[in-house]
Amino acid sequence: MAILKCGDYGFECDYVSEGDMEQVIDDFRKHTDDEHGIDYSKEAVMQMLLRKQGI
Ligand SMILES: [Zn+2]
Repeated sequence: MAILKCGDYGFECDYVSEGDMEQVIDDFRKHTDDEHGIDYSKEAVMQMLLRKQGI
């Protein structure tokens, strides 16, 4: 189970993506692109997830 909160990355936003890691990465990328106009790479979002979980 993975979770990413948009608000943790400098956005004034309460979007939360939760679920399988692959799903969270896809959902979060789609959200930041659609809502914030930022196209994070898959690798960048992966790093956010890993860093957050302290791996
Ligand atoms: Zn957001």
